[in-house]
Amino acid sequence: MKSFHDECAVFGIWGDNEAGRMAYLGLFAQQHRGQESSGIVTLNEKEHLHHKGLGLVGEVFDEASLERLKGHAAIGHNRYSTTGSNLIANAQPLSAMLFSGPVAIAHNGNIVNAKAIREELISQGSIFQGTNDTEVVLHLLSRNPTRDFIQNLKDSAQKIEGAYSFTILTGDKLIAMRDPYGFRPLVLGRRKLENGSVSVVIASETCALDLIGAKFEREIEPGEIFWVTHEGEYSIKIEKKVEKTAHCVFEHVYFSRPDSFVFGKSVYEARKAMGRELAKESAVDADLVIPVPDSGVPAALGYSAESGLPFELGIIRNHYIGRTFIQPSQSIRSFGVKIKLNPQSHILRGKRVVVVDDSLVRGTTSQKIIRLIRSAGAKEVHFRLASPPTTGSCYYGVDTPKREQLIASHKSVEEIREFIGADSLAFLSPDGLMSAVGSKERGFCAACFTGRYPTDLYGLDKE
Ligand code: SF4
Repeated sequence: MKSFHDECAVFGIWGDNEAGRMAYLGLFAQQHRGQESSGIVTLNEKEHLHHKGLGLVGEVFDEASLERLKGHAAIGHNRYSTTGSNLIANAQPLSAMLFSGPVAIAHNGNIVNAKAIREELISQGSIFQGTNDTEVVLHLLSRNPTRDFIQNLKDSAQKIEGAYSFTILTGDKLIAMRDPYGFRPLVLGRRKLENGSVSVVIASETCALDLIGAKFEREIEPGEIFWVTHEGEYSIKIEKKVEKTAHCVFEHVYFSRPDSFVFGKSVYEARKAMGRELAKESAVDADLVIPVPDSGVPAALGYSAESGLPFELGIIRNHYIGRTFIQPSQSIRSFGVKIKLNPQSHILRGKRVVVVDDSLVRGTTSQKIIRLIRSAGAKEVHFRLASPPTTGSCYYGVDTPKREQLIASHKSVEEIREFIGADSLAFLSPDGLMSAVGSKERGFCAACFTGRYPTDLYGLDKE
């Protein structure tokens, strides 16, 4: 229903003979970050074993494929295509055989100068398999004459710009690498095994650590290359200075799971704080507060706590609508949003209702939801968004509509209110959002709200 789509999830594990199965669970916990393809590569002795396919984690892997994925280390990836179309060639991890041995790479983010690097490489004779930005990293690695893989990686990092949280598996090491801005999250945890040894776990979000019983230790620092081998653990920094970090604020607004800790903060608490700020900024006389489920729930709780208005689940969501739901005919399609959301008329009838959602992108879904609430008998509908108006596209690994499709890029708040049919409409201010996510301690990217992109866009905004 959202028009901003999650990007990708990465996972990595070292020192566990069930590494393939742990990767499966780690990807399952991070399914919300990408639903188009999934893949795992394990390291068995010095050999890589692969399995990937199009679809959800549960569709791509079965008992037989997991049985085949033997080894003591693994990386995994869930993909939502951002750059490159939905082809199996673009499903990750991407693999290659380099002079230094096998390498597999899983990427969350988007390399903004990938196109320029790709064109240069093609002009010099390189052959690309797919159309995604991650493949350029494999090519850069393959062309570096040094036999030290980490030095090679560090050199490649000098050439790429943008958002990248990588897990990389070679013939003898697991590597985690994060861009100097720290756009996308990447965390390190440890899991105690029954035999007393401890495995190293890397994931996009802490919810993946929780599922497999791993303990969060720290974030992979922005600009850090961390790696683990049979000999030990190592960490170096990419030699590229940036003024301040640019963590994606949308991770807190919508992408990450509310039970994750992202950029050092609970996503659930950040969303509640957004709701509290919103209530301070745009209070209204009303009888109750309801969320748009599920993404608006924590912010609506915060709004309710700050405003003193009772919180109710005025809309119930059907959780069993998967990608496989077929809308067989026009007559069924016309039920639209009702197939997923059911308004509770016994709660809403005759009431002045504050409706809280996380963000507003095109406005068409909000319009349908407001109609639904009115049809259930609500007297007034006051729509509140726990983020500022979305006015720009993302070039850092999030699938966004073109700028002109973002309603706030060409309509005023009053025009949007009229379009969606609310009695009143208010967005959280950029300052309110920044205070909710703790921007005093860290730098955030909020470019899709402010238009201030932290890096050069290499013409991507002109395409
Ligand atoms: S532009 Fe928006 S979605 Fe993209 S990284 Fe910045 S805050 Fe996140």
